[in-house]
Parts: sequence; C-alpha cells; structure tokens
Amino acid sequence: MQTIPHYINGSRVADAERFGPVFNPATGEQEKQVALASAARVEEAIAAAKAALPAWRATSLAKRTNIFFRVREILTQRKAELAAILTSEHGKVLSDAEGEISRGLENIEFATGLSHMLKGERSEQVSSGVDVHSVRQPVGVVACITPFNFPAMVPLWMIGSALACGNTVLLKPSEKDPSSAVFIAEVFAEAGLPAGVLNVVQGDKEAVDVLLEHRDVKAVSFVGSTPIAQSIYKRAADHGKRVQALGGAKNHMVVLPDADLDMAADAAISAAYGSAGERCMAVSVLVAVGSIADDLVAAIKGRMATLKIGPGTDPASQMGPLITAEHRDKVGSYVAGAENEGAIVVVDGREQRFNSNGFFIGVSLVDHVKPGMRVYDDEIFGPVLSVVRVDTYSDAVSLVNDNEFGNGVAIFTRDGGAARQFEFDVEAGMVGVNVPIPVPVGTFSFGGWKNSLFGDTHMYGPDSIRFYTRGKVVTTRWPDPATSVIDLGFPQVD
Ligand code: NAD
Repeated sequence: MQTIPHYINGSRVADAERFGPVFNPATGEQEKQVALASAARVEEAIAAAKAALPAWRATSLAKRTNIFFRVREILTQRKAELAAILTSEHGKVLSDAEGEISRGLENIEFATGLSHMLKGERSEQVSSGVDVHSVRQPVGVVACITPFNFPAMVPLWMIGSALACGNTVLLKPSEKDPSSAVFIAEVFAEAGLPAGVLNVVQGDKEAVDVLLEHRDVKAVSFVGSTPIAQSIYKRAADHGKRVQALGGAKNHMVVLPDADLDMAADAAISAAYGSAGERCMAVSVLVAVGSIADDLVAAIKGRMATLKIGPGTDPASQMGPLITAEHRDKVGSYVAGAENEGAIVVVDGREQRFNSNGFFIGVSLVDHVKPGMRVYDDEIFGPVLSVVRVDTYSDAVSLVNDNEFGNGVAIFTRDGGAARQFEFDVEAGMVGVNVPIPVPVGTFSFGGWKNSLFGDTHMYGPDSIRFYTRGKVVTTRWPDPATSVIDLGFPQVD
C-alpha cells in the first residue's frame, strides 16, 4: 500500500510509528496510508525550518519573487495531475478540484507582488536632523494547519504569503487527504525554494500539540472546525504565539421577494450542493422573505431532480461523495431528525440509492426550519439545504445576526438600496450581492466574524502580510553635517 510521507528538509520521510488510513471516497476503499508524525518527528521538522530561516530571510526579494513566478508556471502546467490527486482523496468532481487550484494560484500571484507588499514607510525630519522609517520583517517559523475540504487551496492561502514575507513554514495538512501538501512542497522545491524552507509534517492531534507549544514556532495559521479553532487559538496564544484560527460556518442566503427567481434557484443549487456542501462558504440556510418562499422551494426542488451525483472522475458528475462513511452518516442523521423537530423534509437525500460502496448521499431540502432545531443550529457540512421562512427584511437580518457564525452571507434582490442597506446591517465577514459564495479574490483578505474566526487578521491578501511580519520602526539621527570630514559645503568647525 502506498504510504504518503512527510516532506522535511527537502526529502520525503515515510517511516513512522503510526499510520492513518486514506480512503478513496468514491469507492469506499482504503487505497493509501499516511505517516503520522510523532513529537520527535515534528521537532525534527521545526529544527529544519529554524535552520533554513537565516538564509531564506536574507534572500533578496527579487530571488524570492522569481520562485513564485516559477511555482505559478509549474502548478498551472501540472494542474490536472494535482486535481486528480484531490479527487482521489477528497472525492470532489474534477472541475471543482481544478477550480480549487485556480483559486489557490491567486495567492501565489499575490505573492509575486511581495516587493510592493513589504515596502515600509519613511518620515523625514520628524525632529531636527531626525528621520523615522519602518520595515516589516518575518516572524520566524510559521505553522500552517489545514482542513480536509480544500487540501490544495487552503495551504496555498497560507504558504504563499508566509514564505513571501521571509518566514519558513511547517504545513500540517488534514490526515484525511494529505497527498496534495507533499505535491505542493515538491513544486516549490522544483521552482528553486531551498530545502527546509517549506516542510510538511503529516499527522493528527499529537503533531499539532507540538506545533502549538514549541518555542521555535512563532505564528500559527489554522483553518478547520470551530471547536478546534477555538482551542488552537487559546493554546497557541497561551504559548506566546500570534494566531489566526478560522472556524466553521452556517452561511445564509437571503432572498427578497423581488429577486430573480431563476437566478436565486440556480445559485442555491450550486452553493448548497457543490462539492457536496463541504465548503466553508457553502450556503446551508436559505432565508425566504415574504411571498417568494413557495415558488423558490418549488424551483429548487425541480432542479435537484436533475443533479447528477457520482464519482468525481466521471465528467458527467456534478457532485461527488462525502469525505468518510462516518461523516455521511452524520449528515444523514440531521435529515432524519428534522421532521421530529417540526421541519418538513421536501427532498430526502438518504432515499437515493447508489450502486457503489463509496460515501455517497443524495441532496436534501428541508423547509420550515427554525432556530433551535439541530438542523439549523449545527454546522452540517454536507448537501443539506434548510429553508427558513420570514416575513420581512428585518426578520431576515435579525436571523443572520443572531447566528453564532458569521463567515459568508448573500442577498438576492433587484433593489440596489436594499442590497446597500444589507451590506451595512449584516454581521458577517464576507457579503455577496446576487453572488452566493462571495470568496474574496486574492488581492483582498478572507475571513469571517463571530465564531467563524478567532484572532484579529483575516487570511491571505493584505491582512496576511501584517500577520506574517513584525513591524520595526527605526529612528535615525546622524552627526551634524557641519562636523563631517567630507566637504558637504558647510563651513568647517575647528
Ligand atoms: P477539523 O477541525 O476536524 O480539522 C482541521 C485540522 O485540525 C486538521 O489538520 C486536523 O488534523 C486538525 N485537528 C483535528 N482535531 C484536532 C485536535 N483535537 N487537536 C489538534 N488538531 C486537530 O476540520 P475538518 O473536518 O478537516 O474541516 C472542516 C471544517 O473546517 C468545517 O467546520 C469547515 O467549516 C471548516 N473550514 C473553515 C474555513 C474557513 O475559512 N472559515 C475553510 C475551510 C474549512
């Protein structure tokens, strides 16, 4: 059986005391195993990253920039190869996998502008003969801990900017789909990144614990579920590190009565069921305002019947399996429980049969959902769309703002004034106007509010430069030019 290795100091390392299973979710078969790092292995990787730091931070911005241009070229050329790896371990359809890589490449493109991003500021003559300037310097060794659902994109969110700023990195990907991290590290090496600058440690809690507490790790970027994000934030901060920990989500899509019905129904289908709902920006609650509810539910139900679910490698498939059998069963349990809680299951995805042992489940639509029901309160992270019916715009805003999560939110309307008011009122980090999944492009930063993010800075884009650097301000005074041994044209002092 193939073993997915660590990548430490420029080499693959496959030996381990423990291994974890890696499944192909479309077949249900364990096809690979992943080495799970012991504390000693993580310490070895931290030592490699620490040793590589002085030379990397001294590498000229021009040389660093060239590496990012080459990474962009290589990843673009090898996109299909990486997409195939993503589909074989995550299950998402190949077009989604390629889309994920394209979005991740935006962060590499952003990193090619590092010379501009790292520019400091300068004030001349703040006092007589005194100047002040600021520089931004790397924080040191950075740990990047990533979730299963975007095994290429989320690592690229972090490592592009972290490396651009002159840090060295330890990437700890999800143990459920770990191959892409090694693929990406080897692409960086091929592009000229020196050994030890980007390391991959495979593992689980045991590896993360070391990263959170080790004195040589100076910053932690985390993306994953809210309970883990919160605990990572607390523990890493307790150990003196700067932390950004992005958590889970329950993204609402508010549809006003004047919305374009077909546009809203198409958006709901792609945003709720794309990538099997395993996106942190997936729409999981549709808020139907006033009279549009019945028509909207009917339009979505009609479209659901035509969705093709199958292996991600089949070009006809629009949705693949879930990540594990346990997760599929958990998703199904929310649909099973919804009716007892007083909701109406319009389409029950558990009824769809698949001629496969893969972790498939059909898509579900649950109407008349209310806060207090598990199907509303919990992050399901699967292809289940809840519909909450409200009477007014204000009810919709209150519902969204009362929710514990604040990642993404969208409004569908033809009314510019209503959309503008929504942007002003709503408590979420990313807002879409007739755009169901408003993931910011790479020149902006990504992050939610409330329990969707613990920390102060959002991920990638301009916020990432602040997170991965420390500011230094230098105040300078030189001897009076009149005393200079070089003739500057001043009268000489005896
Ligand atoms: P997860 O929290 O289970 O795992 C995330 C990472 O933490 C993995 O690398 C995992 O190995 C590690 N981990 C798991 N349990 C741990 C523990 N007890 N101690 C230390 N480390 C631990 O998340 P997941 O299931 O891989 O990913 C799905 C979740 O991620 C969803 O909740 C989703 O909303 C969230 N997510 C959020 C964003 C965002 O931008 N806010 C983006 C993608 C995914």
